[in-house]
Amino acid sequence: MEFNTAYETANTNSFSKYARRLKEPVREADAKGPEAILPPYFACGGVDDPWWERSKLLYAETCAAARETALPCYRVVCAVDSSVLDSLISELARPERIVLWASGLDEHNVEPAKLVAYRDAIVNAAAQGHAPFGLYGGFFSVLLGTFGLRGSSHGVGFSEHRAWEELPSAGAAPARYYLRRAHRYVMQDLAQQLHEASPDLTSCPCPHCNDRAPFELDYHELMKHSVWCRAEEIAVWAAMDTATAADALQNEFQALTIEINQAQGIAPATKKKARRSIEHLPRWVAALS
Ligand SMILES: [Zn+2]
Repeated sequence: MEFNTAYETANTNSFSKYARRLKEPVREADAKGPEAILPPYFACGGVDDPWWERSKLLYAETCAAARETALPCYRVVCAVDSSVLDSLISELARPERIVLWASGLDEHNVEPAKLVAYRDAIVNAAAQGHAPFGLYGGFFSVLLGTFGLRGSSHGVGFSEHRAWEELPSAGAAPARYYLRRAHRYVMQDLAQQLHEASPDLTSCPCPHCNDRAPFELDYHELMKHSVWCRAEEIAVWAAMDTATAADALQNEFQALTIEINQAQGIAPATKKKARRSIEHLPRWVAALS
């Protein structure tokens, strides 16, 4: 509570670093207090996990301490696996605004069953009157808007997924290019090779790309491009009927596969990498269906 409410701007070193990158001054007068408190929590393996009781105790104690500040507290429900998230949420006594974290749920690499478990936990949470928000999430989380997910934090300078054991090594994401048609980040050199083989593979109408190749974007422009793409995804896909979304992803997967296979002047190893970078699309279709 003290960290959240007594935070001061005396040490601005970390702010200055970002201000230099953005070429903007640090305006201390514009500093705002927090909108809400996220009480401490533990990653839990189920309702019988002793850490779940401790998480609930920390939540209750933080709410009690926050009462005089009038700041709301949002519970973080952190499951060591998406398969136990539903049981944790279902144990809550009354509807809440909750923040969900399914540890290690890498949307692009997990099997469809883990995505289905996450989807079902959100469906049930919404049915129980909760307002669920994802602590991490990428494009698959955008698709879950139709299922009741109210929003998620996503990859501008940090990962779209995280495993709780890895927290000490958390840091800034490397320079990556958001491959708009595949709804994922790829390494910038792969994006550049795809662009050289067929500009259609990396085509983007955003004002930051401005018809330039992936290699021509600097770190900040890569981020702006990815934010623009995510905003477009939310506008187009967040409320889309599930069958329509599944069809559209399946069609794009087939079109990308043909384009990658037919691309000229591209090494077999690069084609293999490119094919691997779209393998999540049929898994997402399976999870939606
Ligand atoms: Zn762009």
